[in-house]
Amino acid sequence: MRCLFVASECYPLIKTGGLADVAGALAPALAPLGCEARVLLPAYPAVKEKLQATKQVAQLPDLFGGAGRLVEGRTEDGLGILALEAPQLFDRPGNPYLGKDGKDWPDNHLRFAALSWAGREIALGNAGDWRPDLVHAHDWQAGLVPAYLRFSGRPHPPVIFTIHNLAFQGLFPKTLLKALRLPPESFGFGGLEYWDQISCMKAALVYSDHITTVSPTYAHEIQTDEGGMGLGGVLRGRADAVTGIVNGIDEAVWDPGSDPNIDAHYGVRSLTKKAADKRALQDRFALRRRRNVPLFCVVSRLTEQKGLDLLLEALPLILSRKAQLAVLGSGDAAIEKAFVQAAAGNPGQVGVVIGYDEPLSHRMQAGADAIIIPSRFEPCGLTQLYGLRYGTLPVVARVGGLADTVIDANLAALRDKVATGFQFAPVTADALGGALARACDLFQNRRLWRAAQRRAMAQDVGWAAPAAAYYDLYRALLARSGSAAAA
Ligand code: ADP
Repeated sequence: MRCLFVASECYPLIKTGGLADVAGALAPALAPLGCEARVLLPAYPAVKEKLQATKQVAQLPDLFGGAGRLVEGRTEDGLGILALEAPQLFDRPGNPYLGKDGKDWPDNHLRFAALSWAGREIALGNAGDWRPDLVHAHDWQAGLVPAYLRFSGRPHPPVIFTIHNLAFQGLFPKTLLKALRLPPESFGFGGLEYWDQISCMKAALVYSDHITTVSPTYAHEIQTDEGGMGLGGVLRGRADAVTGIVNGIDEAVWDPGSDPNIDAHYGVRSLTKKAADKRALQDRFALRRRRNVPLFCVVSRLTEQKGLDLLLEALPLILSRKAQLAVLGSGDAAIEKAFVQAAAGNPGQVGVVIGYDEPLSHRMQAGADAIIIPSRFEPCGLTQLYGLRYGTLPVVARVGGLADTVIDANLAALRDKVATGFQFAPVTADALGGALARACDLFQNRRLWRAAQRRAMAQDVGWAAPAAAYYDLYRALLARSGSAAAA
């Protein structure tokens, strides 16, 4: 079976968020199952620089404002990449979506229409010898692939579309319809029209054969008016074609037994060694060296979505319990400032590093006792999965993928020996405070805390199970379309 991924980012070539991790990890995880997945992505400068063994496979003479070409290559780890070279669109360093002024590139509609158009050409067999049995498009940047295939008037492989974050929808003025090579009949209520604009996300939801998102709870939430970001009705209309599959994590990169970023290595049977990582983290954040108080951490974008304003409100609870807090993040200036002030006002107990620091994020997962994730919505979330793997119990809002991956330490779950963290609902500062209080209480019971850590670390958070779920879905879609590749 051959599957074409279409995505605007892919780890380790270019990454701004979870989408890159999924594309870069799911594609190779499908290989042992008998599915060869190749990733089509724009040849940004960073991609060109890192791609190995490159070879032109097709010319695309008419690609939105100039010529383009398709280049085949491999990542360091051997993942097959199809890079779309179109200098007029992609020869821009830095963030793939934003210019130096921090604003979206004004021609993003053309840039990602070109990506989707290249996906169409490969799927139809117009670009090189490699032809996929099915197409897996990711997020709005690849949202026009299913539309282009639908309106090609040609037989084409089935298309599956994954929503990584419904908050980003790719909305553009309707006057661009023709420039985007979309037929007038696509612009309607049953098509890609959204409040009189073109919606790349809606195009994908309407024209794909199947829709997935990154957790079962998020799959449910986005079909409601509250969580549907304006597309709840559209998604409800496709309820039979929506599936939630929780992401995995790279267990080689996130392994407390071998992580090169951390001071002391440990495992389920050597958890006492985690104390050395806690000490190192306390030193890094100028916190008092205390073993017997819980050290909470945060590793996050500091935005409205992540709910960290609620943590600021709940801070008195942490302070009154003599617990500690270490925060690593960047984003919203007001939230950054408030955390910096909280650290200044509570030296030795609260520490903050503003910025993006991958090695430090590993040291935080290793050194903290618990990680706080109070998101207002969270399609899947990765940091709670890292927390589980590092025996750093997650304290999470009961939303999206957080609800699906952490088992709350309520009395029944403790008695049944299944608890792996703490959940709270509704997503308010009060409820967060309640969960933090429960975490502080449990921390004082060393035996129960250790048992929860061991269970957390034993939880399967790798890619094998999610890859198998995607593979089953691919086969079902191929069988439905009568493809021989389903066999
Ligand atoms: P989202 O993609 O919405 O930001 P996820 O939890 O899915 O949230 O993924 C966030 C990823 O970014 C995780 O790998 C997390 O460790 C990382 N991350 C977030 N903020 C920082 C930071 N300031 N420094 C280092 N890594 C960070």
